[in-house]
Amino acid sequence: MSDIIRRDPRAEWIARNRLHPLHQAMQAAAQGGEARWMGPNGVIRKNPHALGFIGPNGIKRIDRSGGQQGGGGKRSAAPEVVQLPLQRIEQPAYYIAVVPDMVGGRLSSHDRDLLGLARKLAGTDGAVLAVVFGEHKESAFETAGVDRLLLLEGNEYSGYAPEQRVLALRSVESQFVPRHWLLPDSRSGGGELGRRLAASLGERPATRVWQAEGERCIGRAGAGQQDIQRPLARLILAAAECAEPVSETRHEARPLSLQSSVARNLPRIEDLGPVAVDPAQIPMAEAEFILSGGNGVKDWELFHRAAAALGATEGASRVAVDDGHMPRARQVGATGTWVTARVYLAVGISGAIQHLQGIGACDKVVAVNRDPGCDMIKRADLSVIGDSTAILQALIRLVEAYRNGAARDAA
Ligand SMILES: Cc1cc2nc3c(=O)[nH]c(=O)nc-3n(C[C@H](O)[C@H](O)[C@H](O)COP(=O)(O)OP(=O)(O)OC[C@H]3O[C@@H](n4cnc5c(N)ncnc54)[C@H](O)[C@@H]3O)c2cc1C
Repeated sequence: MSDIIRRDPRAEWIARNRLHPLHQAMQAAAQGGEARWMGPNGVIRKNPHALGFIGPNGIKRIDRSGGQQGGGGKRSAAPEVVQLPLQRIEQPAYYIAVVPDMVGGRLSSHDRDLLGLARKLAGTDGAVLAVVFGEHKESAFETAGVDRLLLLEGNEYSGYAPEQRVLALRSVESQFVPRHWLLPDSRSGGGELGRRLAASLGERPATRVWQAEGERCIGRAGAGQQDIQRPLARLILAAAECAEPVSETRHEARPLSLQSSVARNLPRIEDLGPVAVDPAQIPMAEAEFILSGGNGVKDWELFHRAAAALGATEGASRVAVDDGHMPRARQVGATGTWVTARVYLAVGISGAIQHLQGIGACDKVVAVNRDPGCDMIKRADLSVIGDSTAILQALIRLVEAYRNGAARDAA
């Protein structure tokens, strides 16, 4: 087992939020098990109250013999697993159907926001029904707010198959008659599928919805400059951050199936599979994986080699651009491009507010920096503390070893 202390942002958030139902349990775990933990700014904190125990008369005691009683200062070997309260809907009065994008086979943060909105619309009587196409790798449907799970597996749904998927959704429509349909208004799937479904059902969808409250919803329009308020539509194509993701309850994710088989259509579109593209040609705003360099990058040649080895699109901080290491079009941040990558790897970037503004919508941020207290490390989901040159070299070595190994296995 490694000695590295890993942060758990969710546990930290619950520990700060006194109104969260798990707050007490987390506090107990912190006081009963952990006397030391990493604070939000990366500094190791000690809990002075973890020492001692409350005696039978209510007075705090410290046992100096070493064998502490009462659980106060004891360290548990395994962290306590906190179970969220299970919310079970036995007989749903209606369904709220959600079709997540499942980019990479997992729920994206956009999908989770959508499930959060679905839970809000489902209230206590309705059930959230997630319709998932093809194989997936997700194991957290329960904690994402899914009451019923309908898996539609089969080759006919793999790749780009919007026509076949719409046929399947029509079958879901006739069997479950959802009160609302929710799809992510994304470029990677839901945006197109949702519009096709709307046309097929003959309904007008509400698009780019970022707020749904009561009987009304607000969607963005006019190249993002305008908001349109309208009655809550049955078919909602929602933007990211349309609602808070579910975090306080656990749900059944009870499997369901379709009673009738889905008709096969004669595909008018043939999917020839993904085409390899040069990551450098991908517009920054659309890049899924960005390797971004700042003032802490000392060897720019090595940085470019690392980006090529990882297959990442290159980005930069303003200082790196001002110093002439990268073109202006690669600047990330308030006065550069606002990016939405699934993975943003920041090397030698301090995390100034103007830079952080530009990466607010990124899914996972990884930081490489020599300074463990810098703001980029605080923002990151995973941090590597060390010299950028040594880490980029090691990264290239690992990627090449992995590729060679995979090629050997395939041979
Ligand atoms: C109006 C305005 C708009 C701005 N807009 C933007 C914007 O759009 N985008 C933007 O990025 N900035 C913007 N800035 C600039 C911003 O405030 C910061 O100055 C800038 O982001 C800092 O860039 P940096 O993190 O690369 O450099 P620094 O702040 O110098 O940080 C370098 C980092 O590298 C680390 N480091 C040093 N050596 C190594 C090493 N060998 N290995 C690993 N780590 C190392 C250091 O610990 C440090 O954290 C703007 C500023 C203003 C005033």
